Amino acid sequence: MRFDVLTLFPEVIYNYCDVSIMKRAKDNGVFEVKTVNPRDFTLDKHKKVDDTPYGGGAGMVLAPQPYVDAYESVEKLENSVTIMLSPQGEPLCEEIVCDLAKYDQIVMLCGHYEGFDERIREIIKPREISVGDFVLTGGELPALCLIDAVSRKIEGTLGKIESAYDDSFSDGLLEYPQYTKPREYRGLQVPEVLLNGNHKEIEEFRHQQQLERTKLRRPDLFEKYSEND
Ligand code: SAM
Repeated sequence: MRFDVLTLFPEVIYNYCDVSIMKRAKDNGVFEVKTVNPRDFTLDKHKKVDDTPYGGGAGMVLAPQPYVDAYESVEKLENSVTIMLSPQGEPLCEEIVCDLAKYDQIVMLCGHYEGFDERIREIIKPREISVGDFVLTGGELPALCLIDAVSRKIEGTLGKIESAYDDSFSDGLLEYPQYTKPREYRGLQVPEVLLNGNHKEIEEFRHQQQLERTKLRRPDLFEKYSEND
């Protein structure tokens, strides 16, 4: 998998990908991350990439020329998808993450300031993805959410110890509660069933916990799970 990120702040992307599980996966060649800075493509003599909005209003809008030229400079693989990070996009979820993990390349456009000149959308025609109904200052964190979530789906990123099989959403439910040593902490005990070594009972207990937790916290997910069950 190759991630190409169009960003004015490449260090944000590299810093995150240079620690822990992401660094190990990158170093092992599971995925590759490259950045392209639209500022390197601007034809403006002051290196500007933004300007005031036509029609008035607060903030600065990202100009089309640096973004379109930067995008066109990226070599596209055959099995490639282009994503614009935008609060106006489809809300990111596990299903979209699994779908994106099937590509060989994801090209991402990170906005900033007031966002993109509409013609960038019209020319590039990206799939737009949002990380939630709130507004961030830039698209770098959303791009990193995508890189992180998608790379977890690629063979070789997670070791057995961090396996994603039991994670929330993998079977349509939230994960069961987890415990580690010690057996008792501040008077709170680890449930007895987890200590008895009976795998069938443990599995049943955990599934029951998943159902209860999902029903309580995410009735929308629970309903969907019950319909498909
Ligand atoms: N004016 C835009 C609007 O109201 O839709 C918001 C622009 S936002 C301040 C700047 C950039 O941050 C966006 O272009 C986008 O790349 C990114 N961004 C902010 N919130 C986001 C979200 N919830 N999901 C994905 N990207 C987001």
